[in-house]
Amino acid sequence: MAEPLTLKLQTLTPLWTGGLDGKMEHIHAAGLIGSLRWWYEALVRGLGGQACDPTDHSTEHACNFDAEQYEKAAGLPQRARLRAAGLCDACQLFGATGWRRRFRLDAMMGQGAAAWPGDQPINLRPHDRTRGWYLQPGWMGELALTLIGEEQAIGQVAALLLFLEQWGGLGAKQQFGYGAFRLDLQEQAALNRRASFMLPGGQQPRGALPDLRDFTFFQVRFRPARPEWWAQVDGIRQVRQRPDQWQSLTRLAQQGAVPVNAALKNHWRYGQPWPSREIEAWLFGILRGDIRLRSKVNPGWAVRAADGSWHITGWAWLPRDAESRPHYDAVVGQMCRLLGERAGWQSTLNLVGAVQSLEITLTNGLDAWNAVARQVSGGIG
Ligand SMILES: [Zn+2]
Repeated sequence: MAEPLTLKLQTLTPLWTGGLDGKMEHIHAAGLIGSLRWWYEALVRGLGGQACDPTDHSTEHACNFDAEQYEKAAGLPQRARLRAAGLCDACQLFGATGWRRRFRLDAMMGQGAAAWPGDQPINLRPHDRTRGWYLQPGWMGELALTLIGEEQAIGQVAALLLFLEQWGGLGAKQQFGYGAFRLDLQEQAALNRRASFMLPGGQQPRGALPDLRDFTFFQVRFRPARPEWWAQVDGIRQVRQRPDQWQSLTRLAQQGAVPVNAALKNHWRYGQPWPSREIEAWLFGILRGDIRLRSKVNPGWAVRAADGSWHITGWAWLPRDAESRPHYDAVVGQMCRLLGERAGWQSTLNLVGAVQSLEITLTNGLDAWNAVARQVSGGIG
């Protein structure tokens, strides 16, 4: 066992790790670990390693630790030995039947509170929408995490956390912009010192499961001319008719968090001529009867930085799967054009004529990872 790694982070948008009655009174470590695993799998696949689909319970796909094969493979390096024993790269770290997770994660709430009082969701309903999006309160504040385990396991999770601070998040509902967080410089340095990442190596064909090679990360930074820029954003301005919810949104904006993602998704989804309703559902998700398809394009909330500028970070996961293949190049081309289109961001965010600067960055998933990996002094790869 290595020395535990303790770090503090600050949530930028509400954190959601599951809870009863729409409230979140405790941090459920399982919710944090589930999100770490999802991103880790995408990373492993993107880097050429293997990750099974743990949501697929057919024995063919889920990993099972075979102790006999493990003994037989005693001479091999640990990763190859565990492969021989039936564990993919993700299960080697996160555990599988017969093999425990290589680290423990303790999470403690520090100073913080529910993102808004009560347990009622805030409904963001852009014009022309009948239902819109429902935001659960979640929790915002300071979170203390402790990683306990073998040095290599701590190193892998530390590297992942550095990546997620820039491009992802923690906990559930990340497709609604939840779980974004910030580490101060001291905490970043502490993670950097411990971070390490074994490159899986090799090349696996891309499949229908999340793979960092199929991700595009985007970030928009802007300086609005007016502090109240957000009050007229579609889906938000309609909340003014509900005073309690409006007060909650106003308080969030004062804290530097604005859920602009409903307006962005609405603009991208309904403001464009997509080739078919199926492609539209493939990109932006659908919930109808038994059909539940998650959105693949996930803008985060607008978050205010210490220097007063605002940032929106998000990602699009666009796999070449059975549904997308016939239209893939056209659809992905159109989506990336939209993500890079200044005028669309400005009009959707109500910044036309009221912005001092606006920069857009698009980054391929592997490039985003490599940029983080280069910063790690521990020598990732
Ligand atoms: Zn596995």
